[in-house]
Amino acid sequence: MWSRPKMAPNSIHWFRKGLRLHDNPALREAVKGAGTVRCVYFLDPWFAGSSNVGVNRWRFLLQCLEDLDASLRKLNSRLFVIRGQPANVFPRLFKEWKISRLTFEYDSEPFGKERDAAIKKLAMEAGVEVIVKISHTLYDLDKIIELNGAQPPLTYKRFQTLISRLDPPEMPVETLSDSFMGRCVTPISEDHGDKYGVPSLEELGFDIEGLPTAVWPGGETEALTRIERHLERKAWVANFERPRMNANSLLASPTGLSPYLRFGCLSCRLFYFKLTDLYRKVKKNSSPPLSLYGQLLWREWRGNPICVRIPWDRNMEALAKWAEAKTGFPWIDAIMTQLRQEGWIHHLARHAVACFLTRGDLWISWEEGMKVFEELLLDADWSVNAGSWMWLSCSSFFQQFFHCYCPVGFGRRTDPNGDFIRRYLPILRGFPAKYIYDPWNAPESVQAAAKCIIGVHYPKPMVHHAEASRLNIERMKQIYQQLSRYRGLGKINQSDLWSPVEPCGPNSD
Ligand SMILES: Cc1cc2nc3c(=O)[nH]c(=O)nc-3n(C[C@H](O)[C@H](O)[C@H](O)COP(=O)(O)OP(=O)(O)OC[C@H]3O[C@@H](n4cnc5c(N)ncnc54)[C@H](O)[C@@H]3O)c2cc1C
Repeated sequence: MWSRPKMAPNSIHWFRKGLRLHDNPALREAVKGAGTVRCVYFLDPWFAGSSNVGVNRWRFLLQCLEDLDASLRKLNSRLFVIRGQPANVFPRLFKEWKISRLTFEYDSEPFGKERDAAIKKLAMEAGVEVIVKISHTLYDLDKIIELNGAQPPLTYKRFQTLISRLDPPEMPVETLSDSFMGRCVTPISEDHGDKYGVPSLEELGFDIEGLPTAVWPGGETEALTRIERHLERKAWVANFERPRMNANSLLASPTGLSPYLRFGCLSCRLFYFKLTDLYRKVKKNSSPPLSLYGQLLWREWRGNPICVRIPWDRNMEALAKWAEAKTGFPWIDAIMTQLRQEGWIHHLARHAVACFLTRGDLWISWEEGMKVFEELLLDADWSVNAGSWMWLSCSSFFQQFFHCYCPVGFGRRTDPNGDFIRRYLPILRGFPAKYIYDPWNAPESVQAAAKCIIGVHYPKPMVHHAEASRLNIERMKQIYQQLSRYRGLGKINQSDLWSPVEPCGPNSD
């Protein structure tokens, strides 16, 4: 019997994170056997202008989209930036473009899960097949939780045990190419640029006057260049231990990857397997130690909801001083200035400012700090950010509250000359190294010679660190004593803890 030949499907690939053509299994599913493919990204200009996301991250995203569009053009395709909300616009697109297949990357975050469930329902109602692939993480995070009896693992050690029971991460899939596109085409209209072009920052309502050029340019092309540079530092990678900090590493590095992994311009699987190859070449025949993957695995250890309730102070004035780099501690203020200007700060610099805001000095909730990071970090990742803040503030995972970072000594040990401070706080440029971390201790003559009087041109320290940290350690001690009495809270072993701590006695200031 004659049967009508099946029409090749018309697909939409929906980009959210995963802004890349390499190792993008969902994108390949969109193209496979399809007659047409349209790659879309949703942007709501109204939401953009009013969102709590800093201009640096918006710029990074727009650069990623420009780069994606440029790469798609090479395949005779284009990116469609759709102005509006997915739930409102998809039904129209399904009809207008006669869509029968929708593909996207799995999103493990609560907001993403909810959004995707709603779109799946819409698609089903419209008779559109939905294909979802995991490629933002090395492992299926839901499987890890399932393996742990439906509970998220609470220690890194436990997490490592669980992943050792899973299959190794899947190999990256091939980059989308001309030959893979085959007969699949993208219908592009004359007015594509007007209708679907990547918007500018101004179009999103940002004032770009005086905006310095980006220290972290966004996009897959940049990410792939960076990973090569990153791997060239073979000796570093092969001997990789923990993130150490010195004066140089405080600055944005051309090998830094976190914003690229966050937006998915770089596949974590590509990174993982390139590290494996490199290690085997350098160390001949032996398997890479887990420490080599350690940093990457920390991305996956997320979503743990256990948080100790600590009666933090509500002090908007103190919070604003911290967020606006006006604490009077040059080490803290220089880091917060770098964060606002460039969108990235070193891991241990994050430790320093997070400890200062919470259990170290100001006794302000980690949630307030997390919101500021969420606004300003290029690599802001909902679960990694929240988890790290809970850790640093001793609200979860980590209980060694008696180790506290000193806002003077920590910086001085890292960058004894104080060049980092001078770079981000030029007002302090004239201070000699001896006083640059505690300029309030400089004699008046030194302050006058530096053309910076403390209390006039630069603030006095907002707290007395030795007293504040002594009091806060005492408060933490009482909270944990009460908790262990009421909850029988088990002790966490030192071996479960990875995060390097620079202990600093309250009197070392
Ligand atoms: C309070 C606080 C908040 C943080 N918020 C975020 C966040 O929102 N997003 C984020 O990606 N990282 C966050 N981190 C982790 C870490 O600081 C950054 O991932 C790291 O500084 C990125 O720099 P890099 O690319 O040079 O990383 P490298 O040191 O070169 O590491 C390679 C990659 O591994 C991942 N990674 C490394 N360390 C960690 C870690 N501790 N946790 C999770 N992933 C890690 C990153 O994706 C990184 O690009 C936070 C840390 C703290 C203390």
